Amino acid sequence: NLTETVEVRGVGCMRLCCQGPLVEVGSREEPLRSWGLPKWSMWRSGVGSGEECKQSLNSKLYEKVTPDDAPSIIAALNEGETTVQQGDLTHPFFTYQMPIVLENSGKIDPERIQSYIAAKGYQALYHVLREMTPNQVVDTITRSGLRGRGGAGYPTGVKWATVAKAKGDRKFVICNADEGDPGAFMDRSVLESDPHRVLEGMAIAAYAVGANQGYIYIRAEYPVAINRLQTAIRQAQRLGILGSQIFDSRFDFKIDIRIGAGAYVCGEETALMASIEGKRGTPHPRPPYPAESGLWGYPTLINNVETYANVAPIIRKGADWFANIGTSKSKGTKVFALAGKIRNTGLIEVPMGTSLKQIVEAMGGGVPNGGVVKAVQTGGPSGGCIPAAAFDSPVDYESLTQLGSMMGSGGMIVMDETTNMVDVARFFMEFCMDESCGKCIPCRVGTVQLYKLLTKISEGKASLADLELLEELCDMVKHTSLCGLGQSAPNPVFSTLRYFRDEYLVLISH
Ligand code: SF4
Repeated sequence: NLTETVEVRGVGCMRLCCQGPLVEVGSREEPLRSWGLPKWSMWRSGVGSGEECKQSLNSKLYEKVTPDDAPSIIAALNEGETTVQQGDLTHPFFTYQMPIVLENSGKIDPERIQSYIAAKGYQALYHVLREMTPNQVVDTITRSGLRGRGGAGYPTGVKWATVAKAKGDRKFVICNADEGDPGAFMDRSVLESDPHRVLEGMAIAAYAVGANQGYIYIRAEYPVAINRLQTAIRQAQRLGILGSQIFDSRFDFKIDIRIGAGAYVCGEETALMASIEGKRGTPHPRPPYPAESGLWGYPTLINNVETYANVAPIIRKGADWFANIGTSKSKGTKVFALAGKIRNTGLIEVPMGTSLKQIVEAMGGGVPNGGVVKAVQTGGPSGGCIPAAAFDSPVDYESLTQLGSMMGSGGMIVMDETTNMVDVARFFMEFCMDESCGKCIPCRVGTVQLYKLLTKISEGKASLADLELLEELCDMVKHTSLCGLGQSAPNPVFSTLRYFRDEYLVLISH
């Protein structure tokens, strides 16, 4: 009877998107045990050995599975043979990864809190509430060297310390899940695969800064993530892990979800807060910064999904463990959504400092059908295109900025030699033009003019004077726009001009 020996578990993202749907079959020596809920006291001794989410050495991965393949896979449990396409778990796509944020993705059932608890979930929160003062938590995050994963890379500990010190009758914690970069799906995947991890990170942050209310701001285009978050919040509340007197402590913390309508600019923190307050989601000038005067004028901590997802492992394993991963200034790992003209598309999590070459060629498997990689675009519409000649460069905040791009939230789009770089710049400019909120003139008018100039160039109707005007206008939009959207809109133009100017010149009629 298979039901006595085989457990079928629905899991989140297994990372190798191009070969999905994926089914992993592992064997376990110990008998299956039911996921009972532990008593609080068991948290202290480390409930959940982690075995529940470990990948068995004998695991087999089946790719592009259809419902019709199920009998063949079940039969293979006994006979060891099946015609269903098998994947290779020893491929560099998997072996070069260091899953910290994604350690539970594809392993646990995101709709069962028991599954998260069995994988050491909520141990960090329990430890923090029992053993640590808020200052000690801030100090641990500071020493770990964690930087914001939403784009700019601001030191997380410094941000937490500022909110912790700020005076206010109330304080708020916000999770920015308004992921909107073209080609980026890291945050959606984390929320769909391991929602409790984000809730745990937010609760720890709230304790550290003195907040009792959290909001997750997520776009309506992510219905599965929203559903799983709602389920996770309900389950955590029922167990006393969210709500009043968490783990019988004096700490109260509640989380609510706010669904955004999908405006890209609402990922900008001041616009996001305006949207939560029920106002039109447009940015306003800073200072004051949210840490001092944020939601409804109260001190507010805003971090993105991946940043919060790093918090629990840092508490469990220590600041030094985290600080030893990565480069001298960029600690830990980074999750990227690998997409575009590449064989192995999917989610990867690599230590900071991994080279682009290793990511694109070894893990990504290069361009399909023998094509040649031309460039990689990182950082979404605010980022830039990095040519293949610079692929030895490590991926960290500083190196990507030096190359004229940026880390951004983690989109990584690979382009081959058939890609026209002027068209790439035009695509991103059109995106910014459409998403401009219109509040300030340089961005509202500037992006339209830049798009028109790029169209003129790509249609072969522009002159050198137009190219000069393009560069001048890019400079103006960058330096005079109100928020990050406008300030960074010219970046794809700058980087394509820097590395692929020839492609512009070829198109220009003299
Ligand atoms: Fe709005 Fe663009 Fe100005 Fe930002 S830069 S406030 S998106 S018009």
